[in-house]
Formats: sequence, structure tokens, C-alpha cells
Amino acid sequence: MSSYSYLFKYIIIGDSAVGKSCLLLQFTDRRFKNDHDLTIGVEFGARTVSINDKTIKLQMWDTAGQESFRSITRSYYRGAVAALLVYDITNRDSFVSLSRWISEARAHGNKDITLILVGNKNDLEEQRVISTEEAQSFADQNNLLFIETSAKTGNNVDAAYINTAKAIMSKI
Ligand code: GDP
Repeated sequence: MSSYSYLFKYIIIGDSAVGKSCLLLQFTDRRFKNDHDLTIGVEFGARTVSINDKTIKLQMWDTAGQESFRSITRSYYRGAVAALLVYDITNRDSFVSLSRWISEARAHGNKDITLILVGNKNDLEEQRVISTEEAQSFADQNNLLFIETSAKTGNNVDAAYINTAKAIMSKI
């Protein structure tokens, strides 16, 4: 039997290839989708977590390859209480795009949507081009939570989702 106190819809946004579907799969299935797993199309997933003795079902929606701004419809944002705003720490273009993703989320999402900046691929330290300090200062300026993750090793993936849920709970 499944029962929960809250249901939170999360959406995962950001440029193509930053690791959005891998962040979803790592959280729901604890596995990494490498390039050979073309058969796995990840669009949707759910996992139940426990915070402050409350059971919360996190329902995650991935853009599933429709990252072009115009193709993400309002219905995708509807009801979302949080958005994971993902960039790749080895790709500056994906970091530069963040401002547009933030505007889009604030335009189409709920007014009080919780945004968490997720710097993914932090297992690739030697290829890093976005420092933690630069991202932290961007997060501070834009009122975002911030974390760095690796969908490959699993580093901080649970924390990205759970810290977001805690922030939402603190507003309820
Ligand atoms: P999406 O287009 O944003 O959904 O990106 P994907 O999840 O399909 O990942 C794009 C590519 O990056 C794939 O080749 C993944 O294997 C790779 N990738 C995703 N996350 C990580 C990570 O944390 N570390 C490394 N090294 N590669 C990753």
C-alpha cells in the first residue's frame, strides 16, 4: 500500500546533455545510464522520501529531449513546486543558458517555485570550467539553492532532491 502526506512535482530543466535524465535515473533507480543504454528513455519517475516524520512522494518530470525553449509548454510547469536547474560544470554554454531557464521557470511556473541550481558531472574535476565559487555567487544573486552532483557516481544526487524537499517543507 502506498500512502504519503505530500506529493511534490519536480521538473528538471537545463540544456541538452547536461545530465538531466541521468539525474532522474540515479535518484529513482540508483543506476547510471551510459551512452550504450539507448533503450532507456527516461521521462518520468517517482520516489518516496521521509522528512520530519512525513512521507513525501517526489514525482519528477524530465524534458525528454525537448529542451528548445518554445517546445516546453506551460503544462509541463503546471503544478511544479520545484525545478532542478541543471548545468554541466565542464560546459560554460550550459551555465550561460541558466538565466533564460530561470526566466522561463519564473514566467511559466508557480510564483513561489523553489529553484535549485545543480552543477552536474562533478566527477570530471579535471575538465571543470565553472568553479564552485562562481556558481555559488550566481545562486546567491538569483535566490537559488545550490549543489554540485555527479549522476555518474551518485555523489550528492539524493541531497539535491531532498534538500529541495526540505526547503519546500519549511515554507508550508
Ligand atoms: P540530458 O540531455 O540533459 O538528459 O543528458 P543525459 O542524462 O542524457 O546525459 C548526457 C550525457 O552526459 C550522457 O553521455 C551521460 O552518460 C553523461 N553524463 C550525465 N551525467 C553525468 C555525470 O554526472 N558525470 C559524467 N561523467 N557524465 C555524465
